[in-house]
Amino acid sequence: MSQFKDLGISAPILKALEAEGYSTPTPIQAKAIPIVLKGVDLVGLAQTGTGKTAAFALPILTRLAADRKHAGDRACRVLVLAPTRELAAQIGDSFRAYGKYLGLSTAVVFGGASMFKQKQALYRGVDILVATPGRLLDHVSQRTVRLDRVEMLVLDEADHMLDMGFIHDLRKISTLLPKERQSLFFSATMPAPIAELAAQFLYNPEQVAVTPPSTTAERVEQAVIHIDTKKKQDLLHALLKDKTIKRALVFTRTKHGADRVVEKLASAGFEAEAIHGNKSQGQRTRALDAFKKGHARLLVATEIAARGIDVDDVSHVINFDLPNVPEQYVHRIGRTARAGAGGMAISFCAPDERAYLRDIEKLTKQKVPVMETDLSLRTPADDERVQRPKGPSRGGRGGGGGQQQRKHAPKRHHGSETHGKAHAQQGHAHSHARDEGDRRDRKGQEVWSNGPRQPQRGRRQRTTRG
Ligand code: AMP
Repeated sequence: MSQFKDLGISAPILKALEAEGYSTPTPIQAKAIPIVLKGVDLVGLAQTGTGKTAAFALPILTRLAADRKHAGDRACRVLVLAPTRELAAQIGDSFRAYGKYLGLSTAVVFGGASMFKQKQALYRGVDILVATPGRLLDHVSQRTVRLDRVEMLVLDEADHMLDMGFIHDLRKISTLLPKERQSLFFSATMPAPIAELAAQFLYNPEQVAVTPPSTTAERVEQAVIHIDTKKKQDLLHALLKDKTIKRALVFTRTKHGADRVVEKLASAGFEAEAIHGNKSQGQRTRALDAFKKGHARLLVATEIAARGIDVDDVSHVINFDLPNVPEQYVHRIGRTARAGAGGMAISFCAPDERAYLRDIEKLTKQKVPVMETDLSLRTPADDERVQRPKGPSRGGRGGGGGQQQRKHAPKRHHGSETHGKAHAQQGHAHSHARDEGDRRDRKGQEVWSNGPRQPQRGRRQRTTRG
């Protein structure tokens, strides 16, 4: 098996990787790193959890370090676009961790953060800029960043970009970039609209693909518990008595649902944090930090807020509610079993969620084993699982907001009306998703770079990075 040094990664980065505990490249890294080092464009079909961040960050850092120069005021040499602030923050953290012996500068700009400190960080230019599209364009329009010096572009989680309505922002950004550049494009799936987007950004790309989503699910031990909606909270408390649940991500349908679950957990004596779009950036980063550091055993999250959350050693993913888009299930359970480790996903399935379970099983091509508990409902027969009327599929993947859509859980009698409503809700969820990812960009404040930390004024904003 190849080693990082055989792939051409430079010595200071190898030293940083040792500190990170990476000994062997993951498949996407082994395939992508040599291509990126050659300087050609790349399409990577890979989802979070495969090691894709290092697959682009390591060769980018190697290339930057081999050809040092000042980006220019308000300019950057590398631009990484990510759909959510959590993902952007994590990518920024990864660049800093892998590049800690290189002395390169990294800035991260995203919403829910005031422009001021971001402008300061960008003022003298940076080597690497990680940004969400909306906030980046805010800076462009205020002339606090210029994109005409970008040498390398990364578009990460392109499918989520599309789901979250960033397509126009991306088109606009593409017109601002120099033609002469290297572009890397990552997506978990490649339906036609994503392929079109890729064609717009890439020139003659090489392609690498790893583990399609359905096989990622195979690494995770899965179970479903059929349960009455009203008993879900009791079931969660009962499960948590099991000490093998060391660190669990709990997914709920709605933001209020997440808060309710956390409140009830707290009154039952379980330490938990919630992370969702109604929380301030400070609250979100504090919650994530407490979870990462092991101060909180449980993190309760909505679908979108959890995107890009990258925490090692999540022993369990608990689906308090099942997602109605089956790919979301695969993304959720991929939060455990990171980088080849094992993990367990337990899903609570109420009677009105059985159709979702069936869709999930269809996508992953495996039956989720039923776990019986004292609180379980009788295990439904196969034909009882399918309550959804036949008709067009429910709005494709992602959509970003399991939340509102699920109010209209499909029932046998609603026919096409149900579908129509679900679809309308999907539209709503899209704008909501964007809200979570970027509209909050226009408030609050967040930025950090490799340089000396700016003293934080007012409310504590960020706790994830030292
Ligand atoms: P990503 O797909 O980039 O979100 O990475 C998933 C997880 O795998 C992260 O926690 C990384 O720190 C970890 N990781 C990435 N590459 C390696 C590697 N070569 N060896 C061990 N862990 C890795």
